[in-house]
Amino acid sequence: MTPDVRRRVERQARAARTPGGTARGTMGPSSGAGGAAGDTMDGMAEPGAGRIPESTWTRALDLLSGADEVAMACHVSPDGDALGSMLATGFALRSLGKRVVASFGDRHFAVPRLLRFLPGQDMLTPPGDFPAAPELMITFDSASADRLGLLRANVDAAREVIVVDHHPSSSGFGTLGLVDPRASATAMLAEQLIYRLGGTLDRDIATCLYAGLVTDTGSFRHSSTTPAAHQMAARLVATGLRTDEIARELWDRSPFGYLKVLAAAFDRVVLDGGLVWTYVTRVDRAAYGLPYAELEGIIDIVRRTDEAEVAAVLKEDDEGAWQVSTRSKGGVDVGALCAELGGGGHRSAAGFTSHDSVEATMARFRELLGKAR
Ligand code: AMP
Ligand code: MN
Ligand code: MN
Repeated sequence: MTPDVRRRVERQARAARTPGGTARGTMGPSSGAGGAAGDTMDGMAEPGAGRIPESTWTRALDLLSGADEVAMACHVSPDGDALGSMLATGFALRSLGKRVVASFGDRHFAVPRLLRFLPGQDMLTPPGDFPAAPELMITFDSASADRLGLLRANVDAAREVIVVDHHPSSSGFGTLGLVDPRASATAMLAEQLIYRLGGTLDRDIATCLYAGLVTDTGSFRHSSTTPAAHQMAARLVATGLRTDEIARELWDRSPFGYLKVLAAAFDRVVLDGGLVWTYVTRVDRAAYGLPYAELEGIIDIVRRTDEAEVAAVLKEDDEGAWQVSTRSKGGVDVGALCAELGGGGHRSAAGFTSHDSVEATMARFRELLGKAR
């Protein structure tokens, strides 16, 4: 690190922990869910503030400023929040003169098509080329080390691991947790980290963060949408983002085969009491060469069913495991339910992995759902 970069990092670190410090300007980011989040810069009674202690942020900045290389990882089958948060932070660290390496631990390493528009893809490295025992690792949007897939061993071997996450089910892995379950997206915490590092919110960083924010809030429709989420969006959009183009990349395009796979999935959709569910096999996908990652949006159609409180979509991955996406309208905590099945997530959006048959998986799910209601 050059001396002036180190000075800048140290200045930011000092300012961030100084009451009234300049590192948290009036427009500064905060993950706080409260109405005035971002309005206070002196650590005073900001509603919802303080879940991550200042001393924790300071420690994170110290670790980062002392590192020459930072190894970044996000959860397997990355979504916009996982990949966007990671790449945005990578841009900021790179501008501080750090070497960065970024990855996710999928056996078939490929960026989902709908996230290929994100800038910074050159930072990405297949998990096999990831440092075996990084000095400093940061994980994004992963509530547990298991969610890192093939990179789990690298986390176990890393000297320091900073965990940036917003899952209530966060397991407390890593050596330092920048974890705030009230943050609408990990991207919110990534924005704070970038800000505290003295990074500039340029168009590339804003694009990545925006992808995370809109993915996890469902374009500001989900209950995870807070005033702080809208305030963050305003800061990001002000950099000149083409929000229409981002929305189109994320939600409004797909290969033709997607329609045929949707047709197969909807042909066998079941409404069973307050539960609506269906499944997609790898045979369905193979007929159209459709990658697994293209299936992400199906749950958003299934869950609209008026008659159902809970929705589930079982998606067979390339290894033959069922990745189960679940959603609730709020009355049932699917995060807790999925945690019982070895998965996790949030109250109204969660998932788990099953190696059983569709029938056995749904029988178990229904049984737990019956108890939860
Ligand atoms: P998805 O249905 O894939 O959009 O995931 C919804 C939420 O559930 C996200 O917050 C995920 O992090 C979480 N989730 C999905 N699958 C799993 C899993 N196998 N294990 C733990 N959490 C999961
Ligand atoms: Mn995620
Ligand atoms: Mn997330």
